[in-house]
Amino acid sequence: MISIRQLFLSLVATVIIGQTGCTTAPVTGRRQFNMFSTGEELQMGLASFEQMKKEQKISTDPALNALVKKVGDKIAAAAGNDLPNAQWEFVVFDSPEANAFCLPGGKVGIYTGILPITKDEAGLATVMGHEVAHATARHGGERMTSSVASSIAIGAGAAVVGAVTSDQSSQERQMWNGLYGMGAGAGAAVFYTLPHSRKQESEADRIGLTYMARAGYDPAAAVDFWQRFADYNRERGGSTPWFLRTHPVDETRIKQIEGWIPEVRSEVQLGVGR
Ligand SMILES: [Zn+2]
Repeated sequence: MISIRQLFLSLVATVIIGQTGCTTAPVTGRRQFNMFSTGEELQMGLASFEQMKKEQKISTDPALNALVKKVGDKIAAAAGNDLPNAQWEFVVFDSPEANAFCLPGGKVGIYTGILPITKDEAGLATVMGHEVAHATARHGGERMTSSVASSIAIGAGAAVVGAVTSDQSSQERQMWNGLYGMGAGAGAAVFYTLPHSRKQESEADRIGLTYMARAGYDPAAAVDFWQRFADYNRERGGSTPWFLRTHPVDETRIKQIEGWIPEVRSEVQLGVGR
């Protein structure tokens, strides 16, 4: 396990050396700051996914598994080399929750509860395109980086210097726990504790549209999916599932997706970025 001291030193080195931590998101070309390597992200994503597969019920429905694999393979092919060391894996979890996620490195989970809302292949491609985009744009590592930076900024200043210069293992452990959500009983929910920012959500929408269009699905189906998802939320009322808490659907989001469709269509027609 990487210690807080190593994380801190790596962040300092990243800041000083400059270039090391600069990455570029696919499709949008946004410059990012990420102190983790794709290898480290993959390692963390893999460990969390293995644990989730142990803790949660995996669907044995052959038709659902075949559908998710089919769409997932097409989306992963559309992502091409955007995440060079990706280990794509698509697992259907048997749960009434309307949920989906993608861990760093390419581990995708789809909950059976979201399938009535995705409705058809293009709806599922919308969700999977979006989730795969979080992985290829390396949003997990970017989020963890800003979390390390802010824990350092928020008053941990002296404490961190202490942790770096002497062996304060309990403090180190505490920070590590806070950062990765491995505190009491949090289990594998590592990346759940670090929801994506609105900027990352919007970027995953944009990249996801490109992936679904490259995979042969009509990007306009994304608008229909998010509309159905908004309706589902309205009908359900109060209790907001995790996916919705982290994926707020409002008119702005749907309008933005709608606005991107013409450029996505022409970009895919012209084979941009392939
Ligand atoms: Zn998202």
